[in-house]
Amino acid sequence: MKNTGRLLGEYTGDKDGKLFIAIAGIHGNEKTGLAALESVFNYLYDNRPEFKGKLIGLAGNLKAITDSKRYVDTDFNRIWKGDIIDGIRRNGVERHEFHEYDELKALLTVIESIAEEVDPANIVFVDLHNTSSAEGMFTFTFEGEDNYRIASALHIPIITGLDKALQGTAIQYMNERGFCSIAFEGGPLGFEKSISIHEAGVWLLLEATGCIERSDVPNYEQHEALMVASAENFPKISELIYVHNIEESDQFKMNPGYVNFQCIAEGEVLGADVNGEVLSPHAGYIMMPLYQAQGDEGFFITKLVS
Ligand SMILES: [Zn+2]
Repeated sequence: MKNTGRLLGEYTGDKDGKLFIAIAGIHGNEKTGLAALESVFNYLYDNRPEFKGKLIGLAGNLKAITDSKRYVDTDFNRIWKGDIIDGIRRNGVERHEFHEYDELKALLTVIESIAEEVDPANIVFVDLHNTSSAEGMFTFTFEGEDNYRIASALHIPIITGLDKALQGTAIQYMNERGFCSIAFEGGPLGFEKSISIHEAGVWLLLEATGCIERSDVPNYEQHEALMVASAENFPKISELIYVHNIEESDQFKMNPGYVNFQCIAEGEVLGADVNGEVLSPHAGYIMMPLYQAQGDEGFFITKLVS
C-alpha cells in the first residue's frame, strides 16, 4: 500500500450544510474505510454532484496504516481522554512516549482547524472501523435524536452505552464536543466486500445528514440493499454492558468460533487466561471477540434495549 497522507479528500458544496468529517484507519490494519473514502471522493470529483456543506476524509494512524498494524505503541482509539489531550496540548507529554500521542496531536490539530468556526451542532463525525469477527456489523453512537436518526440510515444494529463502558474513543471525545458522532464497524477485516459496505454506509450517511440528495447518490438502492441484507436478524438496538479488559500478561485466549451478536449465557466459558477459565459475567450478546494478536479487550457484551 502506498503511504497515506493525513488528508484523504475534501469536497465542498455550493450550499450550506453539515461539516462531515470521516476518519479511516484509526486502527492501522482496518483499511477498507480508506479505500471506500477514496472511491467516494473520486466519484464526487468526477461528477461534481450538488452538495450541501463539506466532506473531509482523514486518515487515522498513519504509521500503523503503513505497517498494517492495529497500532504501534498503544491503541489509538483508547487515548482520546481529557488528561492525555491536555498533556499533549501543553506539550508536557514527552514526545514519542507513545507514537500514538504524536498521531493524536496531529489529527486533533487538523480537526480543530477544520472545525474552528463551525457550530458543533453542524458537525458530523464518522469513524470507520472493521470488526475482526466474520459477521455482524454494527454502529456505535450516543443518546440523542440526531445521533439515532443518522446512525439508523446504516440499517445495521446500533449500540449505545459506549461512554459508560469504554473510555478514550475518538467518537466519545467528539460527542463531548457536541458533534454528532458515529463509529461504523463496517464489515470483517480482510474481506473485499467490506470496502463496498463502507462505501455504501458513507453514501447513506451523507444522504441522511442532508449533504447530498438521494437522487444524486450513485446506486443508492444498491447501497441500501447491501446494508439491509448484511444486518438481517440482528438486534436493532442494544446497549454495551461489559468490556473484558485484558493486559498482555493475562495471556487471554478467546475460545474459537464466536461471532458478533452470538447469544451467550451467564457463566459460559468464553476463553482462558493465566488464572484459568474466563466466564461470561452476564447473559447477552457477545461482541468483538478478540481473534487478533493486538487488543486491550478480550470481548464485549451487550444487552437488548427494550
Ligand atoms: Zn477498529
